[in-house]
Amino acid sequence: MFIGIDDTDSKMRMCTTYLAAVLVERLQNYGDVVDRPKLIRLNPNIRYKTRGNGAIAIQIHVNKGQESQIEDIVVSTVEEMAEFDDPNTNPGIVFLETGVPIGTGRGKNRRFLTGVPPAIREFSRRVIQDVVTIPEAMELAKKYGKVYSFKNGRGVIGALAAIGATLEKDPTYELIAYRQKWRYSTPRNIDKESVLKADKTTYPLTWDTVDVANDVIVFAPSSPCPVLFGIRGGDINAIQNAFKIIKSEPLERHIIFKTNQGTDAHLMRGNIASAKNERSYILSGTVVKQPYSIQGGHVFFTIAESGHKIDCAAYEPTKGFRDVVRKLCIGDEVVVYGSIKDQTINLEKIEIISLADQFTKRNPICTCGKRMKSAGRHQGYRCKKCGTAADKPEHISIKRYLELGLYEVPPSARRHISKPLVRVSGKKIHPVR
Ligand code: ATP
Repeated sequence: MFIGIDDTDSKMRMCTTYLAAVLVERLQNYGDVVDRPKLIRLNPNIRYKTRGNGAIAIQIHVNKGQESQIEDIVVSTVEEMAEFDDPNTNPGIVFLETGVPIGTGRGKNRRFLTGVPPAIREFSRRVIQDVVTIPEAMELAKKYGKVYSFKNGRGVIGALAAIGATLEKDPTYELIAYRQKWRYSTPRNIDKESVLKADKTTYPLTWDTVDVANDVIVFAPSSPCPVLFGIRGGDINAIQNAFKIIKSEPLERHIIFKTNQGTDAHLMRGNIASAKNERSYILSGTVVKQPYSIQGGHVFFTIAESGHKIDCAAYEPTKGFRDVVRKLCIGDEVVVYGSIKDQTINLEKIEIISLADQFTKRNPICTCGKRMKSAGRHQGYRCKKCGTAADKPEHISIKRYLELGLYEVPPSARRHISKPLVRVSGKKIHPVR
């Protein structure tokens, strides 16, 4: 049985991952949880999201005859723990059961569910990269499984998408540690030195635990939610090793999720002409407007491709990444990675493909060795010593202090779903940590 759940939390309390951790424990007597529960990050631009637009799915080998008990436990746990009072919380649960008949066929045409159907996998891809509607999620979920929706039922979108994300290609993991309940609104007690040591020992098999350049711990939220911290990585042993090194307040529990974090699953290769708001892209272009800063330290520039232009932004929280962006010049060829909002791409990464030659003008040197003087507006240059004239100035090449390759925002500005450059192979990379 596949169980997908989403949209149970509010900004102030709860977290769908915590509900999943409790649920996994409660389901233990009714079957064997297969693999790790999944934590799937969906389109990071969705306006309804509470924080990181995450949804969860659990796969369980059900003990014979205990299907309905499992359903009861899942539904009652959501009813008990979801933040129904929050106007933006619209829980959704989807159950998919293998071996159960699907569709309307009878006799020889009778079909049974054998695994996650391709239509749900494709739906999941769209929920991670695009924007979908509640009715289409309901229709698809009901076609193959059973749906429980609460309030406007928007959570069914994420619940179905979490089931559909099969993570066959590039799974990553996150160990999430949860606080004891009475501590929820108190400051988190985590020993910074031990976190730095854990990062140093296990990076790059773990990532985004600390932002070394900006001297901040980034693996612990600041909200009054159940999460104490989350260790992300591509290797479970390294994550567990980091976990052993970290000293903190006592935990209520911890769990390891299999995730699509750190994979860039949200990015689509596209072109400027067809790029849409609320989606995330990889776009090629040539710089046509020099970078400039506005109040607050945000940096903007414009790229163009086949006559279409788009503004690119490196906002203040991207810190040192803006220093790379500020060095761009008109004519540089780049590939930009990020999400589009208000027709502007919010940069997560940039690849510098080629640098345009940059020149500065100087008065020319005369054949006699002396530097010429201007002979007046639009009248070229003349040597004061020997009287020789010249029409054009001397062009001097300016050294560009910018290396080609891929650059990224620092961990403190990185989205859960964004792939850290240390995970990218086959390209010249400039990772930051
Ligand atoms: P947390 O990170 O604390 O779990 P959250 O950031 O995941 O919270 P939710 O409370 O789950 O946010 O709200 C996001 C809502 O948006 C869910 O109802 C989900 O089903 C819906 N949603 C997610 N992705 C899409 C999408 N691509 N198109 C339409 N709706 C979406």
